[in-house]
Amino acid sequence: MTGETLAEKIEALLPQTQCGKCSFSGCQPYAQAIASGSADINQCPPGGRVVIRDLAALLSVPEKPLNPEYGQERPPAVAMIIEEDCIGCTKCIPACPVDAILGTAKQMHTVLIAECTGCELCLPSCPVDCIVMQPLPQESLATWTARRKERATLAKRRFEARRVRLQRQEAERRERLQKKKAALLQKQRPPAPGNTGR
Ligand code: SF4
Ligand code: SF4
Ligand code: SF4
Repeated sequence: MTGETLAEKIEALLPQTQCGKCSFSGCQPYAQAIASGSADINQCPPGGRVVIRDLAALLSVPEKPLNPEYGQERPPAVAMIIEEDCIGCTKCIPACPVDAILGTAKQMHTVLIAECTGCELCLPSCPVDCIVMQPLPQESLATWTARRKERATLAKRRFEARRVRLQRQEAERRERLQKKKAALLQKQRPPAPGNTGR
């Protein structure tokens, strides 16, 4: 007995691409929806046939084809930045759910190929269309497939680390704002009666 919930068991089978193609905001909410019976097992294009097979086995239901409403299963690909066209606007960085893009303002950006899940979420963020999806070379496909679980674990870890970092940054931002507000209020407060400020 591991104490894992059904949703956790389902989530463990998903690719952790966090692309949202299933119509949920990530793999975890999709897993929860399957567990509660409000989503079907054939809504994850990045997982494709293999994930449908695994989900069907876990839930003891028949396999079914991928629902084309959610997209098509495609050969694995990773993002690549056409570096000579990159204007260094940094817009692609927050779009990446696993922090796989490196770069600073006005500098050329680059994708960490080993971390890229191929989710395509960075593509629409680029104002000059210099991010393209590059299919994996034939010789890398076998390793890519064999490392499916490992890749999903890594992607989940990076996604979670990013989530925690963003939450911390948001909390710090709120704290700074509150301090600023308090300091302003303090300045605007009229002096206490009898206190001439001398
Ligand atoms: S990888 Fe699959 S389950 Fe995860 S967000 Fe994308 S479509 Fe949904
Ligand atoms: S670099 Fe682009 S395609 Fe790759 S994981 Fe990040 S957002 Fe997805
Ligand atoms: S969004 Fe496009 S132009 Fe802007 S930094 Fe990223 S790759 Fe470069």
